[in-house]
Amino acid sequence: MVEKLFWKDQYMKAFNATVVAAEGGIELDKTAFYPTGGGQPCDIGTLGFGDNRINIVEVRKEGDRIMHLTEGSISITPGTSVFGEIDWHRRYAHMKYHTLLHIVDGIVEKYYSGRVTGGQIYQDRARMDFDIPMMDRQKADEISAKAQEVIDERHAVTQKFLSIEEAAMIPNLSRTLPGNELLKKLDSIRVIDIEGFDMQLDGGTHVANTSEIGKIRLDSYESRGAHNKRVAFVIES
Ligand SMILES: [Zn+2]
Repeated sequence: MVEKLFWKDQYMKAFNATVVAAEGGIELDKTAFYPTGGGQPCDIGTLGFGDNRINIVEVRKEGDRIMHLTEGSISITPGTSVFGEIDWHRRYAHMKYHTLLHIVDGIVEKYYSGRVTGGQIYQDRARMDFDIPMMDRQKADEISAKAQEVIDERHAVTQKFLSIEEAAMIPNLSRTLPGNELLKKLDSIRVIDIEGFDMQLDGGTHVANTSEIGKIRLDSYESRGAHNKRVAFVIES
């Protein structure tokens, strides 16, 4: 199976790898390119080999495989050594917004007895959908202010790989565990721990400390029905 370098080191910007297949997309033995998933868009970037340098415009998961897609058809054969570089500016923005969504998610559950129903990360903003009793614009502003406090408290953000048994014993985490059938297919569970604040199951990439997020602003608040409220945040610095 492809080695996920974006988990091994979330700050990896470049890497060496070998092509293992090139049908319907380039597959590598290992990759730092994050494939679209969990509300986080994929990385883009380049693969260099010999005198060639090709653009990777989309990266997606197909089962256990990670496919690197190019603009046109590219002639590259299995066994070729490549040097991959990801668009770090884009990725780092995704890492900040992704970590911000964890913080907002934690606040919604801790302080508002709410439930997060969805989220999407972009390079210049992130939005989140949730269901909070008696939600209004003022509460959205409060959530934003609380999120800024957590950011400024400079919490370390670490990743851990737990066994299913270990994960099930953490009460705050088992709440978010998906159905047992899905769990049986996993050999370990990746957990993102905003130390002293919140823990969540997750496959995405995050910053190492909440302080890296910087200054945030509530960009919009929208009621989309009694049980569906949408907020968007922008990182200003
Ligand atoms: Zn995450």
